[in-house]
Amino acid sequence: MYKVEWSVKMENLIGPYHDFVVEILHFVNEEPQFSVKTDADIDVIVKKIKELKKDKTCNYNFLDIATGTNLKKYICDLKYEGLDLLSKYNEFNINYKKFLSADWKDNTQYSKLLTKAFEYFYTDLIQGKIFNNTVGESNAIREFREELTLESTCPYCDSHEMEFDSSSVDHFIPKSRYPLMAIFPKNLIVACTACNERIKKEKLYLPIMHPYFDNLDDYFYFTYRNEVIEIEFYDYISIKDREKVKNFFKLFNLEKRYNKYAKKKLIKLKEEIRRNVIKQIKGVETISINEIQSKIKEELYDSYINISKYKKKDALTKLKLDYLKQMKKEDLSDLSMYIASENGENFLKIEDSFWV
Ligand SMILES: [Zn+2]
Repeated sequence: MYKVEWSVKMENLIGPYHDFVVEILHFVNEEPQFSVKTDADIDVIVKKIKELKKDKTCNYNFLDIATGTNLKKYICDLKYEGLDLLSKYNEFNINYKKFLSADWKDNTQYSKLLTKAFEYFYTDLIQGKIFNNTVGESNAIREFREELTLESTCPYCDSHEMEFDSSSVDHFIPKSRYPLMAIFPKNLIVACTACNERIKKEKLYLPIMHPYFDNLDDYFYFTYRNEVIEIEFYDYISIKDREKVKNFFKLFNLEKRYNKYAKKKLIKLKEEIRRNVIKQIKGVETISINEIQSKIKEELYDSYINISKYKKKDALTKLKLDYLKQMKKEDLSDLSMYIASENGENFLKIEDSFWV
């Protein structure tokens, strides 16, 4: 819900995955090319790798990885594809944001072999020692997950404070349908397991907002009326951007989840404000409507400032802050009219009935 800033640390950890894929696909495009699968293909690849290792002008980083892991088998498989995968990958890379905006499409039908090869990169290769000693930093994907779960809420739902054990790395553009994006750094997002594994899974709706590029907080605000949480857009938000936000909500089932689980937090927040105001004016014999209003305003303001400090750290800050803003506009005028109509009777009694 809040933008996740792509940091130098994140770039150092998983940025090199991009260069790795470029190298592999570059090598796949080179000779030898295979058209018919034979058992000897691996030997041909191994021989080629040995040659390149001796070649001082060759600066491929993946050669040691290919020698020590199953990577060579998957390189063989990619060589059967007969597609210029490097160009396709680069095209996807350049158009990644356009893809999210539904302004560019990838219509390639990827083969099972290719999908499996990229799945291998993600599920095995990047978790392994040999890869991590050569590309990026040691155990980069684990550190990446650690870095992003530290004192952070889920960038999708903002309703879970993430912990290492209850987080996972999501492929924003699903790797099952778009395998070339399987270890594309900006496609990897650390999220809570509810959002990633139980709700989003392999789905995607386009156009859509993306946590590394968009701060959803700038586009809409929550409202809470008649016991229903809804979203409203700021007037200046374009139709396209509204669609992107709506698809984001749809993808993570946010409207339903918020209405099911977050409402009680708002009731609690309101109760807290009420209690604090009562505490402040307890024992005061006379107090004017304006003074009560000021007290409530102060309380709303203090609460707003306090919650703001924990944006992205505490759960549901976006919802709570929007609710406080709404209360400032709506509830205070109601309260003022109510108190006025009672003509200054015992205000504590009036307040209690108002807040119920
Ligand atoms: Zn989440």
